[in-house]
Amino acid sequence: MDSLLLRNGLVIDTEPAPVAHPGWDVLIEQGRIAALGPNLPTPAGATVLDATDRIVLPGFVDTHRHVWQAVLRSIAVDMDLPDYFQLVRQQIGPRFRPEDVRVANLLGALECLDAGVTTVQDFAYARADRVTSEGFVPGFDLDYAEAALEGLRAVGVRAVFAYLLTPQYQAEVHQARALVGPSDTLLTMAAASLGPSNQELDAVAADWRLAEELGLPIITHVASGPVNDRPIELLRDNGLLRPDTVYVHGNSLADDELAMIGDSGAAVSITPAVEARLGHGGPLIGRLRTAGVTTGLGVDVVTTVGGDMFSVMRAGLLTSYLAPGPHLTPADLLKMATMDGAVALGLGDQVGSLRVGKQADIVLLRADDVNLAAAHDPIGAVVSAAHPGNVDTVLVAGRIVKEHGRLLHHDLADVRAQAYAAREYVTGQRVPAGAPGN
Ligand SMILES: [Zn+2]
Repeated sequence: MDSLLLRNGLVIDTEPAPVAHPGWDVLIEQGRIAALGPNLPTPAGATVLDATDRIVLPGFVDTHRHVWQAVLRSIAVDMDLPDYFQLVRQQIGPRFRPEDVRVANLLGALECLDAGVTTVQDFAYARADRVTSEGFVPGFDLDYAEAALEGLRAVGVRAVFAYLLTPQYQAEVHQARALVGPSDTLLTMAAASLGPSNQELDAVAADWRLAEELGLPIITHVASGPVNDRPIELLRDNGLLRPDTVYVHGNSLADDELAMIGDSGAAVSITPAVEARLGHGGPLIGRLRTAGVTTGLGVDVVTTVGGDMFSVMRAGLLTSYLAPGPHLTPADLLKMATMDGAVALGLGDQVGSLRVGKQADIVLLRADDVNLAAAHDPIGAVVSAAHPGNVDTVLVAGRIVKEHGRLLHHDLADVRAQAYAAREYVTGQRVPAGAPGN
């Protein structure tokens, strides 16, 4: 489809700040946004999609998710962080085979598109770890990275694939870098690191060097401790603060360390729903605003929360009222879930807003569904009331991947059957016939 005209939508752009334009059209050519405005002429041969009663938004950008956990959905909704680690990372994680990672990423990426998440940062640490009598032993096997990428590619979601640096496997880590090439127009890579909160300085410096050699941005979880209580200061004092870095969570960091992140030009990804449940610390959202840090949102783990950005925006909005610093508005949250997330991931010139020349990653919500009809404030309604069931149509780079509320291009019964088999294998628990999800 070379030319597609979305006619008469309620268009919400997010740059420089969210604003609603009733009765606008969006013209898409060669996968990019070619024009926006009221009453655009219809180019010869264009397909016209009636967007009346549709809210037209840029696709959501999830800046932090472990997509491989899709087959572990809701396994840890009633657990705190230590129990989550024990079950998901130590016990079940090492049971994953490459095939299970592929299936989980297939399911998880479809879950993204279904909810209007057109870009996801996949923090991939299923990588051939083992549990031996000596304890947890990290591994690195290219088959895992290939399998994860196969799942993402099959779906056609835009993704930043962050694979965990493991300096003791230098050769393999370098080989993995080559798994995404110029023909992968929807995929980019990043280096995931255990980072300065979880490793000693030597190991951090080794990871940072490796990321530099590979030419990759870094994505890492941070907190005050357990290894270093002042992890950002440690980076600064050792010349390791770099701009192209996404720090995830950071709830327990001191204000001056948030300011250091802001000064460095790096970004923070917060996952407010998971952070509230797993007890990462008080909400960071207002403090980041005060510190002037680019802030994206993320789902993080569907073991514990839903995999959509509506609920994440809601969690961020509500917890901002419990946090020090300014209270945020729905428009702030919508921008974080789109434009700011794109900037955080280094994709701000490609996606995150509806601008001429940008990739046509676009979501259409049914504004006439009963939970959105008669809304006074469309931006407020998207953030406070919308849900994935309202997502009617989704485009990635101009390709329609969901239409009339249904995902296209995949046999979903087959995907589900593969997911149940993977779930059964990795948990070691037979799924009884007739159980929910069968
Ligand atoms: Zn995480």
